[in-house]
Amino acid sequence: MLEQTFTMIKPDSVERGETGRILARMETAGLVIKRLKMLHLSPEEARQFYHMHAGKPFFEHLVAYISAGPVCAVVLEKEDAIRELRALVGATDPAEADEGTIRREFGLDNRRNAVHASDAPETAREEIAFFGLTLSREA
Ligand code: ADP
Ligand code: MG
Repeated sequence: MLEQTFTMIKPDSVERGETGRILARMETAGLVIKRLKMLHLSPEEARQFYHMHAGKPFFEHLVAYISAGPVCAVVLEKEDAIRELRALVGATDPAEADEGTIRREFGLDNRRNAVHASDAPETAREEIAFFGLTLSREA
């Protein structure tokens, strides 16, 4: 089934100039870019985006990290896009991510792991809506 998912290139990867290379990895895997925008989350917006992690020991560091600079927010489409993107992205900790995954290549540690990728249809829908990527005409 043709499916949409959401990815976000995290601020330090954007700052290092890796946006294009990361997007190229996704496009090469057949994920089609449907929407894309650069934006800088406030700490409050970062808290909302990562609400499911509130209260965890790493939460405030995560909020500071994600709101430190612009991110690249992207809607991708493919058959089985959610599962395929998660596989391409790899494990949360780049040191544990398989060879060939985006986090293995571009991640630095278990917080600075290059990209976010939606983990289920419900979160994909929520995250696309959160970033305001649903309102304009389909690409
Ligand atoms: P994923 O992004 O693989 O779905 P999680 O949803 O568990 O991982 O965590 C969300 C984000 O929080 C991670 O991508 C990472 O940036 C950060 N994070 C997760 N676990 C830790 C940790 N133990 N220490 C620091 N940051 C973490
Ligand atoms: Mg997650």
